[in-house]
Amino acid sequence: MTEQTLVIIKPDGLLRSLVGRIIQRFEEKQLQISQIKKEELSQAQLREHYSHLANKSFFPTLMSYMMEGPVLLMVIEGTSAVTRTRKIVGVTDPMEAEMGTLRGDFGVDKTRNLIHASDSVETAHEEIVRFFSK
Ligand code: UDP
Repeated sequence: MTEQTLVIIKPDGLLRSLVGRIIQRFEEKQLQISQIKKEELSQAQLREHYSHLANKSFFPTLMSYMMEGPVLLMVIEGTSAVTRTRKIVGVTDPMEAEMGTLRGDFGVDKTRNLIHASDSVETAHEEIVRFFSK
């Protein structure tokens, strides 16, 4: 089943010049970029995107991390794109993520984990509308 998912390369991915290597991982697995843009996310956009985490102690750290610089937003498309993209990205904590996943190979800590990827088809749809509708 062809699906679309939203991937965000977080600010340190751009600052560390990892964009090419990250995109290569998706392309190698036959996932295609259907939309891409570089943007600085506003506090309002991030509050909406991470609203499920607003009461967590790490929320302020997460917000300032995500505003360290521009991010790269991508709509990624392909067969079972949501699940396959999450597999390529790896679990939230880079210490627990398998080597060979993007977070396992390049992530720094639980906050600075390099990439966001939508966690379901429904969330993907909401996130694509949120970031790509205008
Ligand atoms: N995060 C954090 N500390 C934690 C858990 C998450 O700083 O203990 C950050 C991390 O950058 C993560 C983001 O909050 O990617 C969103 O968390 P979520 O639980 O939605 O994980 P994800 O879907 O990104 O793996």
